[in-house]
Amino acid sequence: MKKITLVLGCLILLNSSCSKKQNNAIPNYIEEPHSFSQPNDAAITHLDLDINVDFDNEIIQGKASYLIKNNEASQIILDTKFITIDKVQADGKDTTFTLGDFDTQLGSPLKIDINQNTKRITVFYKTTHKTEALQWLKPRQTTDKIHPFLFTQGQAILTRTWIPIQDSPQIRITYNAKVQVPSQLMAVMSAENPKTKTPDGLYTFKMAQPISPYLIALAVGDIEYKAVSNRTGIYAEKSMVDKAHYEFSDMENMVASAEALYGTYAWEQFDVIVLPPSFPFGGMENPRLTFATPTVIAGDKSLTSLIAHELAHSWSGNLVTNASWDDFWLNEGFTVYFEMRIMEALYGKDRANMLARIGRQDLEEEIEGFKDTPDDTKLKLNLKGRNPDDGMNSIAYDKGYLFLRTLEETVGREKFDTFLKSYFQKHAFSTIHTEKFVAFLNDNLLEKHGITFNTDEWIYTAGIPDNQSIILSDKFETVEKTVQQFVKTNTVDKTLTKDWTTQEWVHFVRNFPDDIKTEHLAMIDDAFNLTNSNNSYIAMVWYEQAINYDYHGNNIDTKIEDFLIKVGRRWYVSTIYKAFKRNDKVETALAIYKKARSNYHSVTANTIDDMLGYKQD
Ligand SMILES: [Zn+2]
Repeated sequence: MKKITLVLGCLILLNSSCSKKQNNAIPNYIEEPHSFSQPNDAAITHLDLDINVDFDNEIIQGKASYLIKNNEASQIILDTKFITIDKVQADGKDTTFTLGDFDTQLGSPLKIDINQNTKRITVFYKTTHKTEALQWLKPRQTTDKIHPFLFTQGQAILTRTWIPIQDSPQIRITYNAKVQVPSQLMAVMSAENPKTKTPDGLYTFKMAQPISPYLIALAVGDIEYKAVSNRTGIYAEKSMVDKAHYEFSDMENMVASAEALYGTYAWEQFDVIVLPPSFPFGGMENPRLTFATPTVIAGDKSLTSLIAHELAHSWSGNLVTNASWDDFWLNEGFTVYFEMRIMEALYGKDRANMLARIGRQDLEEEIEGFKDTPDDTKLKLNLKGRNPDDGMNSIAYDKGYLFLRTLEETVGREKFDTFLKSYFQKHAFSTIHTEKFVAFLNDNLLEKHGITFNTDEWIYTAGIPDNQSIILSDKFETVEKTVQQFVKTNTVDKTLTKDWTTQEWVHFVRNFPDDIKTEHLAMIDDAFNLTNSNNSYIAMVWYEQAINYDYHGNNIDTKIEDFLIKVGRRWYVSTIYKAFKRNDKVETALAIYKKARSNYHSVTANTIDDMLGYKQD
């Protein structure tokens, strides 16, 4: 398999620069469908960013200057989308450039004329109101409601909408940045960060380890820092700092137990910024500074597996990165596996298995949703011509996890851990695609120990192979018996639920028996006040079921609407809109969506636009 990879690399080179003398310092990049760049000709290696964040006009303006590895090329190509290019320089002198045809997914290639000795290019640019990475929040959309807020979301291919860049995950660059913001605000990035505000709003940053462009991130707001340990801490708006600090007080323990499993944490600092509720993801693993939704602040530390997940990305994803979005499962499947191991190490097997069982049910529902397009349930995808976000679903996460868990149970934990440790070590600060992983797995685990395993079936075929690991949870069995008893006896016994965790409540709500009636839902709601739950996860699954079972008690319709207007986390809101759609209530969904849409980041809005067939007036 390794040989095939090398041949492939050379075939690609034939198209572009095979006739030229090869510069050995340039790695052979694979062909990648979501970037116009041709890094085998000329690749960026370091970025110096110098920008001004203009809240009045909601634009970022400045220059992106790159050191390049130049393989005697006459042109270097960057990805751009919805960016205005003012001027381009090569080694400090103005040079010519063209913007190629616009593609709705990929944007436009910025083709910059260089000569074979060019070492640095500089692009002077500004963002536009169409930018998809940036979300500019009005003060009313923040927690403290006094100052505006800005955050970026680069994954998968949105960094090109705020920085002209070779926006492919197989590119790795270091960066320095100079960022000017209004003096009452603080700027933080996926880099070495300030802990206090500067008097003039000017911030400088340094990311010394090479990262993929989708991991460049910026947040600007009226935020404060509070340390958890000497290498972990929290950024958040003033009224959120203490709550977040309490919720995430196990951060240092998480880093320590992750290191005990798979080796030294490579990024020195591990901080989390809690963003306003419109943040489209649970978390985003921006190196040194995870971006997180406030919906995981439950008050009882019950949703902190999200932090374990983002931390695990410091190895799988940030240190060893998927080479293309077709290999996204290598980022997410490994991360879910690692997350479960951290949770098991810190909180025990019961907790980890409950989380795994919830993921298993998500996977079942995802596969059912793809019954007309089974190819979408393969781990290795083919997303050419599609938005890479199409692959960001439970298949990569939960099927990827199930594959690795099954593999672990087949070979034994000790051998598997040794293998994973060497996998992270050998591929640190590099990118990997599925075929390279399979070859490494064969050489270093399966053939080495004479073990047969149906790897190809797991990776390249639809659905779930028969040898899948069976995930059992005694706690969930008890939950299932409890809900059946409540329905059968028409009474609620609160002593049976008094020590339940969030995971048990989620399982309870998602596994109502088929014969449950509206009266039972009202009985359960009155007893446990689910409609008014302060735990956003429990509220979300309860709202989904309320729509499924047509339950309208306790003002739940208003609560669902309020939730959808306030929260922008894509997983949560898409689950609820999907429930409306499934139950022939698209009109209701659209009526709410029209009020909520302006609060959503483009990542969430694009998903819901497609789901509901929404077109802007
Ligand atoms: Zn992840």
